[in-house]
Amino acid sequence: MDEHLISTINKLQDALAPLGGGSQSPIDLPQITVVGSQSSGKSSVLENIVGRDFLPRGTGIVTRRPLVLQLVNRRVKKDSHNVDSAANELIDLHVSDDKANNKSQSEDNAEEWGEFLHLPGKKFYNFDEIRQEIVRETDKLTGPNSGISPIPINLRIYSPHILTLTLVDLPGLTKVPVGDQPPDIEKQIKDMLLKYISKPNSIILSVNAANTDLANSDGLKLAREVDPEGMRTIGVLTKVDLMDQGTDVIDILAGRVIPLRYGYIPVINRGQKDIERKKTIRDALKDERSFFENHPSYSSKAHYCGTPYLAKKLNSILLHHIRQTLPDIKAKIEATLKKYQNELFNLGPESMDSPSSVVLSMITDFSNEYAGILDGEAKELSSQELSGGARISFVFHEVFKNGIDALDPFDQIKDSDIRTIMYNSSGSAPSLFVGTEAFEVLVKQQIRRCEEPSLRLVSLVFDELVRMLKQIISQTKYARYPALREAISNQFIEFLKEAIVATNEFVVDIISSEQTYINTAHPDLLKGSQAMAMVEERLHPRQPALDPKTGKPIQGQPPSAKTAAAEEKSGFFGGFFSTKNKKKLAALESPPPVLKATGQMTERETLETEVIKLLISSYFSIVKRTVADIIPKALMLKLIVKSKKDIQKVLLEKLYGNQDINELTKENEITIQRRKECKKMVEILRHASDIVSSV
Ligand code: GDP
Ligand code: MG
Repeated sequence: MDEHLISTINKLQDALAPLGGGSQSPIDLPQITVVGSQSSGKSSVLENIVGRDFLPRGTGIVTRRPLVLQLVNRRVKKDSHNVDSAANELIDLHVSDDKANNKSQSEDNAEEWGEFLHLPGKKFYNFDEIRQEIVRETDKLTGPNSGISPIPINLRIYSPHILTLTLVDLPGLTKVPVGDQPPDIEKQIKDMLLKYISKPNSIILSVNAANTDLANSDGLKLAREVDPEGMRTIGVLTKVDLMDQGTDVIDILAGRVIPLRYGYIPVINRGQKDIERKKTIRDALKDERSFFENHPSYSSKAHYCGTPYLAKKLNSILLHHIRQTLPDIKAKIEATLKKYQNELFNLGPESMDSPSSVVLSMITDFSNEYAGILDGEAKELSSQELSGGARISFVFHEVFKNGIDALDPFDQIKDSDIRTIMYNSSGSAPSLFVGTEAFEVLVKQQIRRCEEPSLRLVSLVFDELVRMLKQIISQTKYARYPALREAISNQFIEFLKEAIVATNEFVVDIISSEQTYINTAHPDLLKGSQAMAMVEERLHPRQPALDPKTGKPIQGQPPSAKTAAAEEKSGFFGGFFSTKNKKKLAALESPPPVLKATGQMTERETLETEVIKLLISSYFSIVKRTVADIIPKALMLKLIVKSKKDIQKVLLEKLYGNQDINELTKENEITIQRRKECKKMVEILRHASDIVSSV
């Protein structure tokens, strides 16, 4: 089961490799990433773990592409092999002088082989050839001795003598460019390392030479940038054999220098001389073990030192980590797969439909989506903000309603104006109904003011409809045929503009009809007598008469009620002016050239002015209510519902029979390209999904 987990991740790694390795892949797989400065011993550690020489050696930056090294314990499927026995075997097989295993390093071994992802099916039994292939494959992308490339080489090694493990070897941190290396090589390498180790699923294997100061270790510094608490970093101390006499790494191991959750493991690799003398790894591991067992500082904890312990520990850390992260990975793969499947679906099928069916189906889609947004059925639209029909409703009931409500007739009408109009409209017959005329003149002026906000509403709604258009055609599927999308968009706007002309006329007519006839019989309008009574009441608030004996108010009819009742008889505003101008008429004076109602208003005039104001206000609020109600209805009829009903027909008329239909349905290059990418992603992720679902 355990080994199966690692091999699942290995398979995923292979499956996802075409996505460009660790850094670009949308799926972050658990892996152990090796970092350290140049010559700290990274390659040596990896070779010791594998037990074979297979990595390129030399001066300068030898590792110039990430090497994803998947170690597979090959016997795991046959028997119940456990971690401990494999670890022991690692020591035994590499260290023992057993004749059966005592083969020279380069000798072929039928039990152990390597395989590259870029050369599927080709088994490398000769590890020298593996080295050559790594060099060749590195140079292929980078050119010899020059740059680096972030595209990984995937190598899998099968052996019964290794623990299943996945490690990524990265270029060492370097300071000075050599040869024809680019001058910013240090930054390039650092960026590449950071891309790998900053992923939360990456375990950082920080390799540090024990004979240098740990506090100055570049690898550890870099690790701490992305893992400041040291929660997913494990330290390896190499070159313990090269430390000065009398010094040791005990303080570091005890966590007293730079503590790491997984701690540090000291190892000893072959030195330069050992390699020149072709010392085998087997001998090296044997010497490593005896070094730790016999060293006074380490003898008591020798089994926590050395390469076999390191391999075992890495294996268990990786397993633990995989077990923890697999459910997330599974979910991530499914979600990413779904995302690409959706995009692929939206890009539309590859098979080229006939141009006319493309036009037909895009117009149909567009019309349906437009109707859907208006009706509030567009589910994929944001829940964060109002859209479509809801926005229009907001414009109607909030924006427009408030605009109309804010119209106040009395910010334009002054009392003196009312008085002048009253005089004027009384004309030569200053008797009955003159108040009615003044009222009508003033109210009509005010009704005209409703036109401006109503026309403004039309243009607001136009903007909203255009906004919906943009929302619809910004979807990926419309990007496929840019010319057609453009044509639909233009025709839609054209159509709306035509409809706007008719809508505006209609709106102007509605306001005009309000203005043309003032319905003084409107049931909600204040009666003249009521208005009169209210004004009287306001001007002469009734003090209830007090009974001189009791000191309490006397019950009875208010005195002014009789007056109101009497005036009701003489018509709508009946008789306000009946005694008006009597004196002037009697004197027969000629009036001045500019005649204005001036001077102190008489009480009667004040009363009449106030009554007219009350009636204007009453009637105007009826008009406002009507306008707020009917203008949106008019817009629905002339613009919104009309566009919903007619747009498909109009688009078909304009575009379907079009001679340029071939031009209209030319597919976007980007769409073609993107479809290819999505197809590839879907294929890869489907495969990945199959792999994880087998766990
Ligand atoms: P890398 O650049 O980090 O991959 O380092 P290498 O593995 O190539 O090692 C650099 C040099 O240090 C080589 O000459 C190794 O032989 C030597 N070396 C690595 N580890 C040890 C060690 O533990 N002891 C000794 N004596 N030499 C080592
Ligand atoms: Mg190296």
